[in-house]
Amino acid sequence: MTPADADAYSRSSAAYVHVPFCSSVCPYCDFAVVAGRDDLVDRYIDAVCTEITSSEPWRPLEAIYFGGGTPSHVDPSLLGGVLDTLSLKHGISDEAEVSLEANPEDFDVARATVLRSLGFNRVSFGAQSFDAGVLVALGRRHQAGQIESSLRAAREAGFENVSLDLIYGTPGETTSSWSDTLSRAIDLDPDHISCYALTVESGTPLGRAVRDGAEAPDPDTQADRYESADMVLGAAGHTRYEVSNWSHPGHECRYNLTVWAQGQYEAYGNGSHGYRDGVRFRNIRRIDAYVSAVESDETPRSGNDVVAGWDAEIDRLFVGLRRVVGVAPGPGGTAFLQSESGRRLVDAGVVSLVGGRLTVDRPLLTDEVYRCVLDLEAPHGAPKESTKTAGADIVSMSSDA
Ligand code: SF4
Repeated sequence: MTPADADAYSRSSAAYVHVPFCSSVCPYCDFAVVAGRDDLVDRYIDAVCTEITSSEPWRPLEAIYFGGGTPSHVDPSLLGGVLDTLSLKHGISDEAEVSLEANPEDFDVARATVLRSLGFNRVSFGAQSFDAGVLVALGRRHQAGQIESSLRAAREAGFENVSLDLIYGTPGETTSSWSDTLSRAIDLDPDHISCYALTVESGTPLGRAVRDGAEAPDPDTQADRYESADMVLGAAGHTRYEVSNWSHPGHECRYNLTVWAQGQYEAYGNGSHGYRDGVRFRNIRRIDAYVSAVESDETPRSGNDVVAGWDAEIDRLFVGLRRVVGVAPGPGGTAFLQSESGRRLVDAGVVSLVGGRLTVDRPLLTDEVYRCVLDLEAPHGAPKESTKTAGADIVSMSSDA
């Protein structure tokens, strides 16, 4: 992917739809999810459709991402209803990428065939590991064999764009079990693979267990696992295009490319985050409160940040530096390169400016680069124009659950 190709996604129009239902809540999960509330599914989907219908009309969507939660947990026809509502409201481009997240435990050929006929053309499986012990430690209900059968089911139903999510660094995972997970993932020939370090979030059962003395993931081990993933996946023809994402050429996730190019994306559902017309916004996180707000004709938004001036420039760097192609330096990158911390990171080989692109060359140190970017002072005279309005329920959530 060339820098120009990646930057072109800044003009894309995308939408995220949050589906918070899971069969159980994994102990490490910090997303806006619920388990055991399937009684709410119909009302929730109605609320999402109402939210879509009430939003400002837009141009046809080029990437749509159903994340969660576990979208594949709910009846496909309900997801199809959401797609129909998006189509009526904004239109969906003929070439649009339409993704959903799925769990191997509830995916078979029949479900895959219906989803494909409804318009979904990309599926991302929460595989996490092929090691039975690691799956148990992560609280996952599926077994490694179900990852393989799910992927086969997706192919049989006509999905030509399939992704696997993997987690590394779980206590109990060994070097050989991580190697085995990578090999078995590669053997299935997915088009895209994401690898994330297990993160301990306070407020989760894992966070409480670690606080009470359970073994925490080891950062050095996780760094080794990341480097082995990059090497093994690269050798198998999966090119890394973002800190945690690898794909065969042409199968990069277009929804995420839009987010990382500072492109615009609508967001619907509880806890979802969007960016449109210069405003970053987020919805109420709790599902009951979200549904009640929509049913009462109240806004489900819990906060809006108008991003402009210097803050928009920092925002551009922040999302763009995740990409392997990096960003054009612009005023923010220039200020970064002139700062003491920026010069230090360049001298250490963490960041470089080559061919007019500012890139992070040691992805494991991306967080350190972020800290420096966030500390940058606006140059004298630069407008710092962001304004914030927020409700009481602001909790950050990744759109890539
Ligand atoms: S990690 Fe995934 S499957 Fe587990 S509770 Fe969170 S969203 Fe649901």
